[in-house]
Amino acid sequence: MPKGKVYLVGAGPGDAELITLKGYGLICQADVILHDHLIPAELLHLAKAEAEIITVGKFASRHTMSQDQINALLIEKAGMRRIVVRLKGGDPFLFGRGGEEAEACAQAGVDFEVVPGVTSALAAPSYAGIPPTHRDFTPNVAIVTGHRKAQKDIEIPNAGTIIFLMGVGNIQKIIGSLLKAGWSPQTKIAAVERGTLYNQRVVTGFLESFVQTVKKAGLSTPAIFIVGKVVELHEKLNWFGGKPRILVLGTHPEKYTHLGTIVHRPIVKCVPLEDTSKLDGMIKALEGFNWLVFTSANGVRFFFERLRQSGLDARALCSAKVAVIGRTTARRLTSFGILADLVPDTESSAGLLEEFKKRDMRDKKVLLPQAAAASRELREGLAAMGAMVEEAPVYQTVEVEPADVDLEHIDKILFTSGSTARAFVKRFGRVPSHIKACCLGAPTQAEAAKHGIDAEILSQ
Ligand code: SAH
Repeated sequence: MPKGKVYLVGAGPGDAELITLKGYGLICQADVILHDHLIPAELLHLAKAEAEIITVGKFASRHTMSQDQINALLIEKAGMRRIVVRLKGGDPFLFGRGGEEAEACAQAGVDFEVVPGVTSALAAPSYAGIPPTHRDFTPNVAIVTGHRKAQKDIEIPNAGTIIFLMGVGNIQKIIGSLLKAGWSPQTKIAAVERGTLYNQRVVTGFLESFVQTVKKAGLSTPAIFIVGKVVELHEKLNWFGGKPRILVLGTHPEKYTHLGTIVHRPIVKCVPLEDTSKLDGMIKALEGFNWLVFTSANGVRFFFERLRQSGLDARALCSAKVAVIGRTTARRLTSFGILADLVPDTESSAGLLEEFKKRDMRDKKVLLPQAAAASRELREGLAAMGAMVEEAPVYQTVEVEPADVDLEHIDKILFTSGSTARAFVKRFGRVPSHIKACCLGAPTQAEAAKHGIDAEILSQ
């Protein structure tokens, strides 16, 4: 039995896709996850069904657990021979007390690794179109905590750009300290609130009046401040602020990323099947298949969970080739140690069938581990090529109420089916007038109309 281990993993600044591949793989494998409030909730959906997930803090002053309690819990869980992921916002070693957690592990003789993350100190400026360094403006940048105990001024390092974290409640002192250190009152400053998230806000101004600017804007945490000439670039490089923000309630939000910033609030959830007998039979017969075809990341996840519950691992797939419908599914597969043999350029069942047409599929045995109610397109297409296709239902979907969303920061809603229109109205009421309602085709348009929604058919 291997020893337990603690991984201090950076979850990135907010946009879930900014996690590293290494961090992603560890979340998938973890037995225990201890996480902060500031991490993207979507990342927790990657965890194994039986993983223990514990929220340990911290949200400004509302700490769920003390640092000593967190350290003790890490050591206790690792002592139980578990893979423990300590998931922390941004980078674990930048103002996250990750250093202290690593020290506690070292002192207790617990093995640990650190997986760096994309820090908000650099990601929020990127998403605000403000490069912290620039050849025409400054060759250096300093990252400073704005959280200082009473009275003391904040020590201002000598740098062309200064980025403050944890400063929202302390903006007056930050600005006072900058002016005392000789910064001109006309220096530009930006606040980036909820950086990298769909509801990111950028507020800019000048040191001399920024306290009032921030008050008027009602700035809240989390936010960073950027001070220096580079802030002038915000207007020119504001790439993220210009993207339409689109609420999607259906499945496969990744299909729509070319349309803008996708805000996904699913109305269905994937759960394991109650009756796994058919799947178990297929798992026993895996050696006889020439191809396994995965049509979703969830299919991969539930298939490998059942494989593991059957006492097997990736080696059970050694005699088959593996195809996936797209890159998201391929990525999920990598976290179980398998590189896909076939990923179509066009990410759809039709795209996959095009690729299979280039191969001789006659008499090939193909297994499709997929949702219990999956479409029959792939099965029928492969059968038409002469393949012997078996479907293995690996999960089912159940309806859930969509999670909260700040509709003020949404520009469009994309209704992908009649059920998404029904769920929206039930949960949020009318579509606010600033939001454009869109749908994929005439049947959904008619369904949406029944719920009082005037939706335009999207031209993709
Ligand atoms: N380790 C983290 C920082 C933890 S300190 C990192 O590397 O990002 C917490 C502070 O980080 C907050 O007070 C805020 O200043 C900043 N922060 C975290 N997430 C943020 C976000 N999405 N947008 C703006 N600031 C953020």
